[in-house]
Amino acid sequence: MKRDERARSLSEEDVDVFYGCIMCQSFAPTHVCIITPDRPSLCGSISYFDARAAAKMDPEGPIFALEKGRCLDEKLGIYQGVNETVQRVSGGAIEEFALHSALVKPCTSCGCFEAIVFYIPEVDGFGVVHRHFKGETPYGLKFSAIAGQCSGGKQVEGFVGIAIEYMKSPKFLQGDGGWKRVVWLPKELKERVIDAIPEDLRDKIATEEDVSNIEELQRFLEERDHPVVKGRETPETVEEKEVSIEEPTPNYGVTVSPISLIPPNTKVVLKGIVIKSREIVIYTTPRNLK
Ligand code: SF4
Ligand SMILES: [Zn+2]
Repeated sequence: MKRDERARSLSEEDVDVFYGCIMCQSFAPTHVCIITPDRPSLCGSISYFDARAAAKMDPEGPIFALEKGRCLDEKLGIYQGVNETVQRVSGGAIEEFALHSALVKPCTSCGCFEAIVFYIPEVDGFGVVHRHFKGETPYGLKFSAIAGQCSGGKQVEGFVGIAIEYMKSPKFLQGDGGWKRVVWLPKELKERVIDAIPEDLRDKIATEEDVSNIEELQRFLEERDHPVVKGRETPETVEEKEVSIEEPTPNYGVTVSPISLIPPNTKVVLKGIVIKSREIVIYTTPRNLK
């Protein structure tokens, strides 16, 4: 489509204004689509130029212009102006959007998305499933079941609704490692976006014809030497060393911070201490996140 090609010739760095659409707030009250030259609306029907025309024609309408503001994280696609807009139009429910990540502060998804990016922790990669795919993903879940997990205006880390056109942007999932992290696509979708997939990765991305469950996917990725496999096989080498800390006087409540004295790649074993905690937060940092 001409308008898509035109939008593709521009990128986020070339403009000062992005667009927002809150049309779907009627059923997803905290949802807003942020439309940039690199990221069309997730319903796939509003490109950057469409949004610009609509905002000009009806400045009071659901599609509006916003100053993109300072870029806070280039790779993830976090912009000050986007965050301010998201906070305002979501009534404070959502604080931050990373335009190019499914794992870190992803955009909200209403339900109209053409496709969903979903994280597959077993392989530390992503699948993308489009609305018209009637089969099952390697998870054993269909599009509709996955859609149920992330629609309604929620921000769900690990899932994000997208337009298929976004897969053709050089910024596609760049905050998560881009195409190097994509491990599964339905065959039909793969064929639609084949030109956007780096050539050396094309035969490393599985489809429903190659695998039908996670175990088969793991085997496929290993056989094809997919970049996510390298990430798994090269865990950070942690040399086990004991650091002796002088017998402490029982002075609980004092913060000891010898961290700066510990050489890198050193595992610290603390023996005979009691740790009291008000709260434990467990999170995972995906490998290959560059
Ligand atoms: S999905 Fe489409 S209609 Fe709904 S808010 Fe986004 S751009 Fe607007
Ligand atoms: Zn919608």
